[in-house]
Amino acid sequence: MKEVQLQRIQKFIAPYRVTRGQDFRLLDFHPGDTAAFKTEDKREARKMLARGVRWLSEQQEMLYAQDHWAVLLVFQAMDAAGKDSTIKHVTSGINPQGCRVTSFKQPSSEELDHDYLWRCSRHLPGRGQIGIFNRSYYEEVLVVKVHRELLEKQKLHPSLLTDDIWTQRYEDIGHYEHYLHRNGVLPLKFFLHVSREEQKRRFIRRLNKPQKHWKFSAADVAERQHWDEYQVAYEQAIRNTASEHAPWYVVPADNKWFARLLVAAAVVDAIAGLKLQYPVVAADKLEGLARARRQLDTE
Ligand code: ATP
Ligand code: MG
Repeated sequence: MKEVQLQRIQKFIAPYRVTRGQDFRLLDFHPGDTAAFKTEDKREARKMLARGVRWLSEQQEMLYAQDHWAVLLVFQAMDAAGKDSTIKHVTSGINPQGCRVTSFKQPSSEELDHDYLWRCSRHLPGRGQIGIFNRSYYEEVLVVKVHRELLEKQKLHPSLLTDDIWTQRYEDIGHYEHYLHRNGVLPLKFFLHVSREEQKRRFIRRLNKPQKHWKFSAADVAERQHWDEYQVAYEQAIRNTASEHAPWYVVPADNKWFARLLVAAAVVDAIAGLKLQYPVVAADKLEGLARARRQLDTE
């Protein structure tokens, strides 16, 4: 990729990238924001997305061939914000062998018998891989914070259930991500920021379309009553865990085409930063290749 193209991408994603949480306020970010794009630019945005996806699929082969780095894409959002379809679009050109999506739901009893990072660690991407977490260990400071009764199910000894528990969790998550980064895993975190009104529109659309009924859950509508608590929990999670080595992207998600483009651009930027190249083959291996070639030619 040309330097000027990369600079353009960096300029595009910069307003949504959070690496220092101190002054972070969710109110400064608008779910309906589409940067300089207007609705009539949608087609252009789609073409750009397609170019980004093509580039990613080429890079993913190099990532795999090099076998040094792993990329971890973490997706968090309120229901119907478009996690599934964003993941589908952004990974659409990637070789399935080099990419794995894991969805984290309510923990099983086996999972509750372990520390909360355990189940996520088991699904971390290996070197050369892109791992995608559809929800993640962040649920531990989001849904568990909003519904404190979930904490009671975690079998922690009462002496560990202190008032500091959320601060401790932010800290531990921060350290965990630092640890991952130091081990060659690049964490990128996306909060798909949808508005309450748009969520309602999407729920109604699901109710109106029989082929979307399977996606509808009455529990999701009940969860809307906790909207404000979730917004506070997201703000605090981002404020306390944004860092240079594990940035958050606050992705305006009322327009799906824009959210997809922004996520793809952020992934392109992170992978471009690795300056990937195919591994250089050692001289003795080259000799072996020449021998194999001769053998095939004389068959
Ligand atoms: P979609 O609704 O688009 O299919 P989803 O990610 O909302 O996707 P669901 O099966 O609807 O999937 O919901 C999973 C639920 O599990 C979410 O409500 C989430 O908050 C909850 N969950 C995830 N991790 C935990 C956790 N550690 N503790 C408690 N609940 C969790
Ligand atoms: Mg759901």
